[in-house]
Amino acid sequence: MNIFKSNIEKLKKIINNNKSESKESKIDQAKKQEEEKNKEIKEKKVRIIDENNQEQEVKQFCQHITQNNMVLLAENEYEQANKIYHTYLDCYEDWSDTLKAKFQGWKVKDKRKLENYKKCARCQEREYKESHPNAKITGYSFHYYYEDL
Ligand SMILES: [Zn+2]
Repeated sequence: MNIFKSNIEKLKKIINNNKSESKESKIDQAKKQEEEKNKEIKEKKVRIIDENNQEQEVKQFCQHITQNNMVLLAENEYEQANKIYHTYLDCYEDWSDTLKAKFQGWKVKDKRKLENYKKCARCQEREYKESHPNAKITGYSFHYYYEDL
């Protein structure tokens, strides 16, 4: 009688072990997938055409252009009509699907040669956040959007 019972207990233990193992491996798998995705995002490259019309592929993740008055232009109709320039190489990842689908790469331009262009609100916001890590959203109009606390 005891042998039968202990066999059931053993069986239960095995089942439970398998359950927790598969649970763990699922968590591991999800972690691995997330790590791979993060790696992919961090390694992703974007095409840029520099001022000498040379094409390059450069890492885009959080890359911020800050030197020599250089800025980034995306040559689609919307951006050209609205005269927008950018400073983050991965900014386009945040655009609407339609605009993103049209994105081919950046053209690097000297800001001083651009007339009446304005910085993209997203890029401006990221720059602001970087230099004001404790900033909180306090309003709606962009220029009063943040208050450094
Ligand atoms: Zn931007």
